Formats: sequence, structure tokens, C-alpha cells
Amino acid sequence: MTVVLDLLNNDPRAKIRATPRHPEKVNRPDTPILSKPAWIRVKAPGSAAWAETKRIVRENKLVTVCEEASCPNIGECWSKKHATFMIMGDTCTRACAFCNVRTGLPGPLDADEPAKVADAVAKLGLEHVVVTSVDRDDLADGGAAHFAATIAAIRLASPGTTIEILTPDFLRKPGALEKVVAAKPDVFNHNLETVPSKYLTVRPGARYFHSVRLLQRVKELDGEIFTKSGIMVGLGEQRHEVLQLMDDLRSADVDFLTMGQYLQPTRKHHAVVSFVPPDEFDAYEKVAYTKGFLMVSATPLTRSSHHAGDDFRRLRERRRG
Ligand code: SF4
Repeated sequence: MTVVLDLLNNDPRAKIRATPRHPEKVNRPDTPILSKPAWIRVKAPGSAAWAETKRIVRENKLVTVCEEASCPNIGECWSKKHATFMIMGDTCTRACAFCNVRTGLPGPLDADEPAKVADAVAKLGLEHVVVTSVDRDDLADGGAAHFAATIAAIRLASPGTTIEILTPDFLRKPGALEKVVAAKPDVFNHNLETVPSKYLTVRPGARYFHSVRLLQRVKELDGEIFTKSGIMVGLGEQRHEVLQLMDDLRSADVDFLTMGQYLQPTRKHHAVVSFVPPDEFDAYEKVAYTKGFLMVSATPLTRSSHHAGDDFRRLRERRRG
């Protein structure tokens, strides 16, 4: 019935909408969902500011990772008018085992999207904005030019706004990274997501050392840009592997590390192997600082873009300091 109605509406994306959100996961066995511990509790969304954020996102026909990734912090962030925009559509060409973003073949790029994002940033009055994207392995440059155009449009509409981007790895796309760095974002974030031993099961389309190298290359190209990376814990990684990952990021001169608890979106996604208690996050944070990161955020509910504006201000002060 849904398919018939969608087709009658002449929606070119109707066929995509009629397919499962994660076609590649449909035949996977169910994984048990563990009940969340007391320390993973979030406020339900619903404040007036939250509704205003939602209205602006909808009016500008934008996609946010807050919604697409079912982020637990959406009630808190949107109440502060802080949303993370996800550009280049809502469909990802990779199929990571942890991620709730729709997978499949994406549609063409919306040439007006950079202006729409810039307009929403201005309307929300953001001092700091985070822009991320789906993986676009189907595009010759992986979407690098679109990232650069979005940064330029925000700069034009809101010159005082600082810009943080959270990018895919642009794997096998020569010149793509250089294009994005030349647009001069204030913060360049690329998440490692997990330790190398888990890549095959958690992030099969990516290569650990390519991601580390990408972060290092950003610093080589432009030493002024802050670099940032994040991981999820609770996927079965070992403590010594996390400590090695910290060393790898410091070797690449990465400034800022985020660490949060992995939460399983559906039974078809990677299982939560453990819920890491808050005191273990504190211990990770202490070790990370001793390894030389300028900033570390490690709590169960830490996400790459959580409190990104406040963290950016601190990051800048620490560099000056
Ligand atoms: S933490 Fe990031 S993704 Fe989650 S709701 Fe906040 S801004 Fe959105």
C-alpha cells in the first residue's frame, strides 16, 4: 500500500523509501539488546527551543545526524538550538555495523544545499556549527567540493560563526582532502570509530591507517586547523587497544579526542558488548591528557558534536595558553 501511494505521489525517491532502511542488514541474525544502565538516561525532547530548531530544520529541508543516527542527546542539544547538519542526502554508500543512517544508492546532490545550510545557521544564530555528511563513494571527489561550498556559504552568511566539519575518509579520491582543507574549516573532525581489530566487523568499508593518515595530512596541509577524532567504546575493544589508538592519534598530531558509549540502534546492528561505567571513562580521559591531547571528552553520552561550541572555545584557549 505504501509503495502504491508513494508512486502515485510521483516522488522520485518513493522506491528508495519503500526499501528497508538497511537492506544489507535484513538477513543478519538478531543480536540481543541489553537494557541500558542507570547512567545512560537522557531528557525527553519537547521544549519550545527544541520545537523551534525542528521547525527551522524542516523549513530548510535539511537532514541532521541528530535524527538520522538516533542520537540520545537530541533533547538537550536541540533545546540549545544546536543541531548537526548532515549534507549530501540521507542515504550512505557504506554500511557500517554500528550506524543507523539509511544505506543504499543516494540521489544527486542538491546544489542549493550549501545556501540552505547557511540560512539555517543564520536563523539559529549559531556561534559554532558542525556539518557532517553521509559517505558518498559514488561521487568522483567523495563530496569534497560540496563540503567546501557549504563552508564558503556559511562564512558568507555568518562570518562570525566558527565551523567544524566531520567528514568521511574520502578513500581513494585523489585531491579530495586538499579541497576541503583549502576551504579552511576551524575544526576538522574525522572519527576512527573503533580500534583496528574491530574494523572488519564494525567499519568494514574503511581502513584504520588511512583514517589516521588523513588526520595527519590535515595538519601537514594547514597547521592552524584543529583536528579531532572520536571512538565508541563497548564494542568489545580491549583497554590496551584504546591506549594504542590514542598514541596513533597523537602521532598524527590530533588535538581533540572524544569517546562515548556505543548504543545499538536495532537488533540487526552490532551488539553492545559492554556498558563502560563512568569511572572508566574518567580513567581514559586522564590517560589521554597525559598523552598530550589538548582536549578530551570521554563520558558515556559523549558524541563528536556534543557541546562542540563550548569545547571549541576551550580548545582555542588551550592552544593560546
Ligand atoms: S550530540 Fe551531536 S548528533 Fe547528537 S543531538 Fe547533539 S548535535 Fe546532534
